[in-house]
Amino acid sequence: MSELAIIRDGGMLIRDGKIEFVGPSDEIEKKSRGTEIVDVGGRVVLPGFVDAHTHLVFAGNRLDDFERRARGESYQQISKAGGGIWSTVEKTRAASDHDLLVQAKKHADWFLRCGTTTVEAKSGYGLTVEDELKILRVMRSLNEQSPLEIVPTFLGAHAVPRAVAQAILPASQDSQTGLSASRYIELVIDEMLPRLAEEKLAEFCDVFCERGYFDVQQSRKILSAAKELGLELRIHADQLTNSGAARLAAELKATTADHLEKTDEQGIAALKKANVQPVLLPGSVYALGSSDYPRAREMIGAGLPVVIATDFNPGSSPTPSMPMILSLACTQMKMSPAEAITAATINAAYSLNRGDKIGSLERGKLANFSVFDCEDFREIAYWFGMPQTHSVYVRGERIAGF
Ligand SMILES: [Zn+2]
Repeated sequence: MSELAIIRDGGMLIRDGKIEFVGPSDEIEKKSRGTEIVDVGGRVVLPGFVDAHTHLVFAGNRLDDFERRARGESYQQISKAGGGIWSTVEKTRAASDHDLLVQAKKHADWFLRCGTTTVEAKSGYGLTVEDELKILRVMRSLNEQSPLEIVPTFLGAHAVPRAVAQAILPASQDSQTGLSASRYIELVIDEMLPRLAEEKLAEFCDVFCERGYFDVQQSRKILSAAKELGLELRIHADQLTNSGAARLAAELKATTADHLEKTDEQGIAALKKANVQPVLLPGSVYALGSSDYPRAREMIGAGLPVVIATDFNPGSSPTPSMPMILSLACTQMKMSPAEAITAATINAAYSLNRGDKIGSLERGKLANFSVFDCEDFREIAYWFGMPQTHSVYVRGERIAGF
């Protein structure tokens, strides 16, 4: 992870959206007679960032929650006051396909502006059959209309919807959650998964495996059903408690286990043994005002191909900025700048089954790259809070310049 294979005074020959040759500029120039030459003036050129964990499609924002948290209110207080994930679900359900797509396009532009050219995007703010499908269809339209590549993940098991909970057992809080959860899980397995598999709306299935959401047994049930339908697996694991979700990811041979703030040595060893990639999300730790960052150094030490991602969402991580995540990876998780770049490009590409197409600047790969206004790649993680993107290219086309 710490060897970046930097080419000084380097260049690329691009044809039909793909990289045909990478090497020293003078050699490239000899091969490129008659082609257009783009001189980026000694700036840093990197593969477009690959953001392997986002909740890109939602309506509205959570500004009130943000201000309440700043005043020191707890998650429970915020939720009682009408905030939390449920408020985003209500707004997303109420939004038309068109309005959702308009907002999603705005988010997509933010990602491109930060130098990201591929994002994984999760559903999970619908929580009914039609609303989950609506979000996944918006992702499909976005993928067709934006230069940003979207990799869709179904996260119907993001939370148990309130209406289900209230309709069944209004009296007791605990049994209410248990019963409604099992009813909702049936809906996810029997209706949502078969429909979205038929329409080929998702490549991955994810579950929020956490106390108060879906426990290990429930998560196993949903993810096993998804696997049978041909979906690959990602899991929100051990974010708030060490619930055994990392071990579940290993047991089910998930592609990734994400968050892992509370994962211990046994969890790390299980991930390594089963070849599960950790996806670390320091933006949500930062934005929630916590200091419980995941144990990146131990994971790298164990030989795990660590990925870092934004976790872009309106509640706990409202940032599309991979440069900000690079900064947090270096300052809070003690990753080197080179390790952080690897985690945000090639490792992330592999975690989305696209390691052969994107994530590095190599012959035969897509010409997806970003140019930064600096001379040393470490500056991208070092100067934090300042945009350094100069221009962004997707399949060899300049799609943004600043
Ligand atoms: Zn997430």
